[in-house]
Amino acid sequence: MFDVKDLYQEVIVDHNRSPRNFGKLDPAGRTLEGFNPLCGDRLTLYLNLDDDRISDISFDGSGCAISIASASLMTEGIKGKSVQEAGTIFTDFHELLTDSSRVIDLAAMGKLAVLAGVREYPSRVKCATLCWHTLRALLAGDDAPVSTE
Ligand code: ZN
Repeated sequence: MFDVKDLYQEVIVDHNRSPRNFGKLDPAGRTLEGFNPLCGDRLTLYLNLDDDRISDISFDGSGCAISIASASLMTEGIKGKSVQEAGTIFTDFHELLTDSSRVIDLAAMGKLAVLAGVREYPSRVKCATLCWHTLRALLAGDDAPVSTE
């Protein structure tokens, strides 16, 4: 039997063990820190923009498996996208995790859909969205570190 939940678990474990785009980007046009005090997740995002396109993005830091896997999947999912496209993905992803009535379009979400299961654990939603809130602030040009509280 093929169990989709096992597959999701596998992807999260894999991205936590070998995070993609992990490490400092040098030089980085913009950097911003994000912190989730509830869990102790602490990430820094590094970003380079080419006009309005995200030409390169990376992250480092430490946190739980969900926060690391989410940042890994996020950087993989938005590299090369425009700022506007990244904003749309953010909105879809946020709704996916916070609105349980929402029908999930797994095909449109791509690999990010593996985090959909997190919505059954409200205390972990902030782990999964920390990197996204940090990204949104970074794209908006904020300098102040992001906290989920
Ligand atoms: Zn966490």
